[in-house]
Amino acid sequence: MSKKIVVAGAGHGGIAAAALLARKGFDVTLVEQNEEASLGYDWRDCIQLSCFEETGLEPPPQSELEPLRNLSYFNPRKTVCIPPRKECSSVSMMIERKFLVQHLLRQARESGAELRFSCRAKGAITEGTRVTALETDDGVLPCDLLIDAAGIDSPVRKSLPAECGVLREIAPEDTLFTYRALYEDTGESADMPIYSAYFFHCGNKGFNWVFRDGETVDVLVGSFGGITPQIVQTALADFRTDHPYLGERLLRGGAYSKIPLRRTLPQFVCDGYAAIGDSAAMIEPLSGSGMVLSIRAAGYLCDAVEAASTFSRAELWAYEQAYFRRNLHHILHSDMLKDVLMQMGEKNIDAMFEKKVITTKELNGGKQTAADLWHKATGVLTTPSSIPALWPMVRRSRTEPRLAITLPKTYDAHAVAAWQKAYAAF
Ligand SMILES: Cc1cc2nc3c(=O)[nH]c(=O)nc-3n(C[C@H](O)[C@H](O)[C@H](O)COP(=O)(O)OP(=O)(O)OC[C@H]3O[C@@H](n4cnc5c(N)ncnc54)[C@H](O)[C@@H]3O)c2cc1C
Repeated sequence: MSKKIVVAGAGHGGIAAAALLARKGFDVTLVEQNEEASLGYDWRDCIQLSCFEETGLEPPPQSELEPLRNLSYFNPRKTVCIPPRKECSSVSMMIERKFLVQHLLRQARESGAELRFSCRAKGAITEGTRVTALETDDGVLPCDLLIDAAGIDSPVRKSLPAECGVLREIAPEDTLFTYRALYEDTGESADMPIYSAYFFHCGNKGFNWVFRDGETVDVLVGSFGGITPQIVQTALADFRTDHPYLGERLLRGGAYSKIPLRRTLPQFVCDGYAAIGDSAAMIEPLSGSGMVLSIRAAGYLCDAVEAASTFSRAELWAYEQAYFRRNLHHILHSDMLKDVLMQMGEKNIDAMFEKKVITTKELNGGKQTAADLWHKATGVLTTPSSIPALWPMVRRSRTEPRLAITLPKTYDAHAVAAWQKAYAAF
């Protein structure tokens, strides 16, 4: 008899895993609290197509993709604008979120996964530290493996006993609270970059953007720790001064959501359980991108599940190991930069932009020259208040290669626990 796998939540990684595992002959049921038609945000986001190639999933058709526009970055008091890279990114493409969800759901359905909508997951049922079933509004679904793709606030992750070792709560200070909306374009002209991003915009700890895409004006307001309508209104009013084409009429979106802007959880499996996507904080902490990591993770999970017999924590280490082996450097680097920017505060970020410590090379990549390093050294030394935020970066840069080298190849409880402790302390 084939093994029973239940997926809680139609997160991207969960749907991708359902498709891949059903294709391999597992008996897969996915439960999602919402109706199918309402799934996916009402806007476009960026994705790298390599994740489809890596997992063997069908990529979205070219007709649904548009090249990603590169961002220009402003410091908090808007005295410096770091221009975008000249060329558009060839690896990242914009896609409608609703289309992407449907594209993945179709593959899951065609592979034979059972999809149940309007069915809310309440929590995991456990025997000791082993997850044995999912409790839903419609009853209990026993399973050999429960895949948790229910997002940042997953009730499944939150219901696990502490002894399972998976972090249950994602702290508000590690969460970017967002408002995203598409407004009408008034047609007014303004000498501003079409895709402008702001750090600590209007004094708010976070990251905002305004993007004129030719048809609408796309606005993101992102705030650490919490967001209020007042924060959103202040940002919109300021944007309307600098970007007069930003109209008042809301055309799409207008939704509040959350992004777990922290490095991926140190442990995201236990006996009979594996988290994927936002429920495991599989996010690039600086950009807030999570779709690629989630879809890639579905590939690692599928490989680990195929090789497993009891879905024990030890067997599922292959999933965590593959995830960290492939993505560790990127996640840690991005986490470090995010922490430096957020801990520095707006005055220091202003100084770093103005004194060319933060340049296009930090934000867009590029080789540093001797002159660049000179600017950075003098910039930092003449801004002593920035040093407490920068100093941990020196220590963390030294730890990072060690974490990559010491990642255990096979499961050894002591070695894995030591590695996870070092990773958590990074
Ligand atoms: C404003 C914004 C912009 C973003 N931009 C990008 C971008 O450009 N590129 C990128 O890669 N990422 C981006 N992200 C992040 C991206 O949305 C997530 O990382 C990605 O969706 C992965 O999350 P997920 O699929 O795991 O979870 P989610 O998208 O949160 O999906 C979770 C699913 O589980 C369901 N669910 C929750 N609770 C239950 C329950 N109790 N029972 C049943 N079902 C349940 C939900 O209804 C939902 O369908 C952005 C996020 C936001 C908010």
